[in-house]
Order: sequence, then structure tokens, then C-alpha cells
Amino acid sequence: MEEKEEIYQTKRIVIPEAEEVLGKEFKCLDHGFVRLIDYMGGDSSIVQAARVSYGKGTKKLSEDRGLIRYLMRHKHTTPFEMVEMKWHVKMPIFVARQWVRHRTAKINEYSLRFSEARDEFYIPKLGEVRFQSVTSRQGSEEIEVPQDIAQMVIDFISSSSRTTFSMYNVMIKNKIARELSRIGLTLNLYTEWYWKNDLHNTLHFLGLRMDKKHPQYEIRVYAEAMADIVKKVSPFAYEAFEDYVLNGMSLSSIEVDALKKIISGENLEEVIKRIENKRERLEFEGKLKRLI
Ligand SMILES: Cc1cc2nc3c(=O)[nH]c(=O)nc-3n(C[C@H](O)[C@H](O)[C@H](O)COP(=O)(O)OP(=O)(O)OC[C@H]3O[C@@H](n4cnc5c(N)ncnc54)[C@H](O)[C@@H]3O)c2cc1C
Repeated sequence: MEEKEEIYQTKRIVIPEAEEVLGKEFKCLDHGFVRLIDYMGGDSSIVQAARVSYGKGTKKLSEDRGLIRYLMRHKHTTPFEMVEMKWHVKMPIFVARQWVRHRTAKINEYSLRFSEARDEFYIPKLGEVRFQSVTSRQGSEEIEVPQDIAQMVIDFISSSSRTTFSMYNVMIKNKIARELSRIGLTLNLYTEWYWKNDLHNTLHFLGLRMDKKHPQYEIRVYAEAMADIVKKVSPFAYEAFEDYVLNGMSLSSIEVDALKKIISGENLEEVIKRIENKRERLEFEGKLKRLI
């Protein structure tokens, strides 16, 4: 009798490259870190999950890679949810405030109601002090901040952190509740949490927070450190993510239309000018800069 091919995974997947970094702190900012605590699955579990859907499997590593790339290109996302990662992260509260918006994760945070705050504040280095962006309301400018101004900013942030922390200590010593004493502490105080998420949503987080232009530098540092670890857990999936999401580009129908005109020989500047919305026009110019 012909033996039936087993399409369901029967053993726990162990990835030597992931085992090597498990528990290791990857330094971020001045006192922060990110480390992978645990993982479940890897590239082969993505392939296994797809096998369950499609009913037959791939036989070679090159086919695994091709299948994963196909799934990523076509946004067949559920197989990527079969991979899970649990992280231990230490970051400033203002970074955690942005991070927590990624709602699909499971989180357990260090509690300043249960435990006392530690004297650990993020103080930017000279090169990390930035001017407000003039083109974006949220972002910062690439222009270098003169050293004397940057130093003033650093001194100001350091002294306000020290002052609020000593007032916190006075309140604690006077038996004021920790939950109340903490409320005057500054947003650059470090916090810690466990953050567990599946690969699909972790890549979504990385896509948003590793973008070169939009996210704040301080959260990008963490996303970049995590990306190096995700690469070890699921190298094919990460490669596909880089190719189709992170370094890929999406075009609106207006942009496709404009590109068609440029390719057919119409004057580039005239075509751009005809895009009505100023922001869309600027974004299209940005995309053209990457293409031409
Ligand atoms: C550069 C940048 C600037 C930002 N600026 C601001 C800002 O000024 N103010 C602000 O408030 N936020 C801001 N955000 C946060 C942003 O609006 C999103 O909340 C965050 O990026 C998480 O994205 P998400 O919802 O796609 O991801 P997740 O929360 O991880 O969710 C993943 C996906 O699951 C689905 N999903 C999850 N939960 C729900 C739900 N409850 N209902 C429906 N669908 C759900 C959605 O499809 C979502 O795309 C900013 C984010 C970035 C990257």
C-alpha cells in the first residue's frame, strides 16, 4: 500500500541560529535592550501551514523559499502567524507609548505601582539631538544641530530627569503611594516589558517602525535590532519581507497613470505638476527619485 504523505508538523522546530541569540541582550540607546526570550516555529512552520491549506508540500529548500516569497507577495498572511516570538524589551516610556499602539501583541509591563522606579533615563547623545522638521509636523530634520545647542538640550533633559527623580524619592521616603509618586516622572524614564507577537504582525511592526522617514529615531533603533534577530528565526520570510514590503513600493492609480505618461515620453515635470494634491505630488517625486 502506498504510504500517505504526512502534511502536519509532528515535532517542535529548533533553529540553531535563533538558539544562539536566545536571551542575549542587543543594546539599544543608552540603557535599553531587546532580547528574544522564546520562539515557536520558523520558515518551515510557514511552509507547513501553507501545506495544510494547499494539501501538498514542497520538497526542497529552494521550493520552501519560493513558496514563502509567493505567500508574502500575495499577502497570504495566516501562515506567517504560525511563527511566534517573545521579547524582553527595555525602552524609554515615550518609545513604549508608540510601541503599545501595535495592538495584536500580548504585553506584560514592569509596574510602577508594585515596584519602585529605577534611576534610568534616556539622555540623547550629541548626534541624537535633532531639529523639528519643517516638512513634516511629526518628524525631525537631518540638519546637524550646532554642538552648543545640542549640549544645552542634553543638560536640560538630564537635569529635569534628575530633579523629578529626587522628588520621586522624597515622596517614596514619605510613604506616598508608588502609584501617585510616579506621575511626575519624565517620559524618558526606562520601562521594561515582555512583548509577544506572531511573525506577520511583528513584520508589520517592523515595516512601520523601520521606515527611514516616518518613525521616530528612538523606536527605529529597537525595530532594527529586532529585525536582525527575526532574520535568524525566519530568514526566508524576512528576506521576502525586505524585498516586497520594506524595500518595495506601492503605487496609486494616479501614480501608475503618471508613470505611464513619463514612460511614453511626456515631459516629466509637466506630468508631476498635473498631480493635484501637493502631498501626493511630493510623495510621487520621492518615489521617482528612488526609480530614476
Ligand atoms: C510614523 C508613525 C506615526 C504615527 N503617528 C500617530 C499619531 O500621531 N497618533 C496616533 O494616535 N497614532 C499614531 N501612529 C500609530 C498608528 O496610527 C497605528 O496605530 C500603529 O502604527 C499601529 O498600526 P496598526 O493598527 O496597523 O497595527 P496593529 O495595531 O498591530 O494592528 C495590525 C492590524 O490588525 C488590524 N487591527 C488590529 N486591531 C484592530 C482593531 N481593534 N480593530 C480593527 N482592526 C484591527 C488592523 O488591520 C491593523 O492594521 C503612528 C504610527 C507610525 C508608524
